[in-house]
Amino acid sequence: RAKSAGGNRYELADPEADARAITRHGLTTALPTALDRGEFFIEYQPLVHLGDGSVRGAEALVRWLHPQHGVLGPDRFIPLAEHTGLIVPLGRWVLEQSVRQARAWQERYDGAGPLRINVNLSPCQLSHPGLVQDTVDILERAGVTPDALCLEVTESALIGADDDLLKPLRRLAEMGVDIALDDFGTGYSNLANLRRLPVSILKLDRSFTQSMQQFPADPVDLKIVEGIVSLAHGLNLAVTVEGVETGAQAEQLRILGCDTAQGWYYARPGPPERLHELALVDATG
Ligand code: C2E
Ligand code: MG
Ligand code: MG
Ligand code: MG
Repeated sequence: RAKSAGGNRYELADPEADARAITRHGLTTALPTALDRGEFFIEYQPLVHLGDGSVRGAEALVRWLHPQHGVLGPDRFIPLAEHTGLIVPLGRWVLEQSVRQARAWQERYDGAGPLRINVNLSPCQLSHPGLVQDTVDILERAGVTPDALCLEVTESALIGADDDLLKPLRRLAEMGVDIALDDFGTGYSNLANLRRLPVSILKLDRSFTQSMQQFPADPVDLKIVEGIVSLAHGLNLAVTVEGVETGAQAEQLRILGCDTAQGWYYARPGPPERLHELALVDATG
């Protein structure tokens, strides 16, 4: 369009880009009060044991019910919350809600095995000095033991992390909290680096699961996943796969030795009652 405007050296503004910028600005302005107004809510997506299909826990995924824009996914506002610093109170709120939900599940589940809860941590929360104490307080208040909690940190957040950044994670790990390396395989992962990270779970990124879509799957991808699983198990790490959308993928990943899976094939993220049903159905056979 700029060209047909007669060779003038200007470009028409992209109206969509404008709308995006305005929205981003608007969202950033609305963000600080959204927490007080109770506009955030959490959906839970089950984590399923690949060996026996039982529900072992769930990942907490935050959403924003914006008064004008409707439900917004975390990709729309987490980066803004990180930028403005709201991520610290928001992340603490997500942790508190999720841990309390885990307690409620555990009570309903009644001896059929503790339901675990996975909560995402952003890099800003990692470097916030209150992280360890806040987590301890939240677990205590809810009456949940540390081993029922898994904190997910992305690989990219820990790349080149110095000891100061790893210290709080180490303390949490020593207490019994699991640390998972989220979206594993998307960053410039230095496999040797894994040894010095206090992680106990690798969450293999959805892109690997996607390449298991065709049957037979790409032999190179199979080899890569096989290699990652064997390395992980060799280092005593469990492997969770994300984005499982078909039974064929689940079967392939099970054969490759992955431990736990998550994805639309089992359930989309949803309200806590839904996981409740899944887990209870499962527990009673
Ligand atoms: P993630 O931790 O890697 O979460 C998995 C994402 O994959 C979720 O997107 C989930 O809805 C989606 N997903 C699950 N199963 C499938 C599937 O079978 N197919 C496909 N195509 N997608 C699937 P969501 O909910 O949009 O979350 C995106 C990211 O936002 C998360 O990625 C996580 O990094 C971040 N996030 C979510 N909640 C929080 C939070 O409370 N705090 C922080 N710091 N980050 C969060
Ligand atoms: Mg995650
Ligand atoms: Mg992930
Ligand atoms: Mg992901």
